[in-house]
Amino acid sequence: MAHIRAEDLLIGAHTSAAGGAYRALLEGKEIGATTIQFFTANQKRWQNKPLDEAAIDKWKETLAETRIQKVMSHDSYLINLGAPNPENLEKSRAAFKEELHRCHQLELTFLNFHPGSALESTPEQCLDTIVESLLLMEKAVANGSTRILLEATAGQGSSVGYRFEHLAYIIDKVHTRLPIGVCIDTCHIFAAGYDLCTDIACDATLKEFDKVVGLKHLYAFHLNDSMKGLGSRVDRHASLGKGMIGLECFRFLMTDPRTRNIPKYLETPEGPSVWKEEIALLRGYASKMEK
Ligand SMILES: [Zn+2]
Ligand SMILES: [Zn+2]
Repeated sequence: MAHIRAEDLLIGAHTSAAGGAYRALLEGKEIGATTIQFFTANQKRWQNKPLDEAAIDKWKETLAETRIQKVMSHDSYLINLGAPNPENLEKSRAAFKEELHRCHQLELTFLNFHPGSALESTPEQCLDTIVESLLLMEKAVANGSTRILLEATAGQGSSVGYRFEHLAYIIDKVHTRLPIGVCIDTCHIFAAGYDLCTDIACDATLKEFDKVVGLKHLYAFHLNDSMKGLGSRVDRHASLGKGMIGLECFRFLMTDPRTRNIPKYLETPEGPSVWKEEIALLRGYASKMEK
């Protein structure tokens, strides 16, 4: 594996596209990010237009200027690819295809999505509906080079994806048909019951992920501390070192050879000025190991 210098490691945050997608890149640059995540459309609305040519040109120009890499889109909160209600499922699938289209327009590397919520159905039914939804996306996904990433969840409400077994079930059934992978959100998996508080716990959790899903399917991390405790199944992000996980986890992920080079995106609650400090902190962990 080629060694990547600490300054080149892909670390960023979920930045704001208010005023145009390219603004998310500029905000990233200001905080010292080398990658970013953003919403390509209003995340709380069903109907969104595709991007116009001027917006795409501006995006490409700014991308080249800022040299931000491996940009990730986060899908709309409304989409539920495992919805038991046929009408809702149809709307979700259509909206997901639109998400993909915008990702292709902007040539994004990843589309991160929450697997789905079972609501009045069972988790097993929900997982099967998600698999069916994804297989229907085969053609749409093939129209570009964006890899879709299942986000590990906290298991809040009836959402699935909070056990590594759920992620493995989906991946096993679709990975030969379309480019898919996993994004681990540290807050989510901690809330779901996977300990990350110490180096030993992080190592055990990574080994468990490797055994159940396979580390080759891991493409990204959302780095967040957690306001709520281990196994709480409550999704509340905290700034790094200000939650129940603590800094040891983030130092581990920046230095362990299995995770050091994987792109990482902050979704911590305090915004750009704190992200800037967090990115510097994370990069510092990686560079201290270089001597
Ligand atoms: Zn996340
Ligand atoms: Zn979350």
